[in-house]
Amino acid sequence: MRELHFFADDLTKRYGHALYRIGLDSGFSCPHRSSDGRGGCVFCSIDGSRSAHLQPGMSIEEQVAAGLHYVTHRYHAEPPYIAYFQAFTVTNAPVEALRELFDRTMSLADFKVMILATRPDCLPEDVVDLLAEWNQKTELWVELGVQSANDVTLKKINRGHDAACAADAVKRLAARGIRTAAHLILGLPGETMEDEARTADWVAALPFSAVKVHNLLVLKNTKLADMYHAGEVIPLNEYEYAARLKALLTRLPEHLLLMRLSAEAQPREIIAPKWWMKKGQFLEFFRQSFDSDAPDSRFLPIRTEDGSYTLYHPAYRQHFHSLAGALEESTRKYLVPAELERLLRTRETVRLLDVGFGLGFNAASAVRLAESCRAGKLEITSLEFDPEVLPAAQMLPEHPMPSFIRALQERGEYESEFCHARILFGDARKTLPGLAAGFNRAFLDGFSPDANPELWTIDFIRTIKEKLTSDGMILAYSSAYPVIGAFLELGFDLRLSEPFGRKRHGLAACLADPPGTLELLSEKDRNIATLSTAGIPWRDPALDRTRDAIRQAKTEETHQRRAEGMPKWYKPG
Ligand code: SAM
Repeated sequence: MRELHFFADDLTKRYGHALYRIGLDSGFSCPHRSSDGRGGCVFCSIDGSRSAHLQPGMSIEEQVAAGLHYVTHRYHAEPPYIAYFQAFTVTNAPVEALRELFDRTMSLADFKVMILATRPDCLPEDVVDLLAEWNQKTELWVELGVQSANDVTLKKINRGHDAACAADAVKRLAARGIRTAAHLILGLPGETMEDEARTADWVAALPFSAVKVHNLLVLKNTKLADMYHAGEVIPLNEYEYAARLKALLTRLPEHLLLMRLSAEAQPREIIAPKWWMKKGQFLEFFRQSFDSDAPDSRFLPIRTEDGSYTLYHPAYRQHFHSLAGALEESTRKYLVPAELERLLRTRETVRLLDVGFGLGFNAASAVRLAESCRAGKLEITSLEFDPEVLPAAQMLPEHPMPSFIRALQERGEYESEFCHARILFGDARKTLPGLAAGFNRAFLDGFSPDANPELWTIDFIRTIKEKLTSDGMILAYSSAYPVIGAFLELGFDLRLSEPFGRKRHGLAACLADPPGTLELLSEKDRNIATLSTAGIPWRDPALDRTRDAIRQAKTEETHQRRAEGMPKWYKPG
């Protein structure tokens, strides 16, 4: 089987420990941006990928000191280090200025490796001579901005050079023994997998020693941002990118080192894509998908931050749980705010309605709680649309209660001394009206309201309400304004569960006796939900509308209310 060889692992092997990069900015800007107003590449941000710890105008001494401080405090890094000139085009200066810069920089710390990021059209012969000199003194790498080997794409992204120029640069560097990494971007405007395959074959045929690949990021204040808003670019999500990356890497020679496989931007700078996975999660997922023979990597388990696993649902383009912690989410958003333990300890029977069984984390956590309390009996009724969730839950490397899932799969129910659970398959909107009332608690856990509005309409929530006891409560992870609006219109006393894995709180909608431990809904959120169109609920009066019809009706109601004078957003005063 093919293996992935990472540059960082190679350095660790050779130096005995990880080598950290000290990001540096030569201050030489980019020839493509500053000359004759051609304006640079469409994706390039104002700071040209400068490291976060650097400020414009810092001397090289200050930059090295700041970089050392950062890696020492953050990662307990030890020497030697990598001098990494990443920002803009490091070779965009006369050779004497470059000589001075490299001499100065390399004397400032124990640098054993130097990486220079540059453009193929910015490597005149005297500069290549200087690099060849440095190549004798240190481990030198040139990170060459290639992006794509397709000239049509290079034009579209206003790269300012063609593929032949990049091929010439790598050949000239290789002729002097200088190692070069090809910097590639996947998902460039208009590029298909076939285009990317052509780039892979082009790289494979040239004397590159490494590749650095990442997905296209749309950053604020770039030309790409305008193209994105005009619908000319569709950024790749994790699954799409993983599939394209796998296709690219399988075409490349195995000896090429991988310098990087994903990119991150500051949250305040990025417009799209907004990935769910963090860098480490993506890498772990990608390694699995690379090793898997499955044609589709979407069904591979993803480890969330608390160590529990979840899956991605391709039809909803969402994960079943928060990547901040699948199991933790069950406890913090459902079990705890529902005060399930108190109920079990004070009542003979507690009835729980579980809407959106999914992979069964909420239900299994509740079963485990009941069985550890050994007090009242918990009766769970789970509603689920998709029968495939039970086999999917069994595919996870770990599940909070595999025996529970197996029993539901084999018999449709689970029975123990302190718990009885059943799962009813079908559209919850059809199943729920036929159930006997008297539920003490309901867990409402559909996919997000935008993607799965049928479970978040005021009419469906009303049906749940009708099935609750007079002191019943609905727990939901979403606190989208249309959902708050629905709960308030239905007369619930709304409380907030603590935010987890997202900025906003979850909701605990109470019919009576709200738990004193839960925060009150703020006056501002109440006003937004009731006095502006942001809080207009989704509606589905006969519980039979399609998703699109539910969305359409909400859009029409919003237009109508706006025409009647209701503001889009509530502003105090
Ligand atoms: N509570 C789950 C757990 O603990 O693993 C996660 C639920 S997941 C976010 C949402 C689930 O709602 C999916 O399994 C989906 O199939 C289900 N669902 C979506 N629409 C539905 C509907 N109309 N009726 C029943 N289930 C539905």
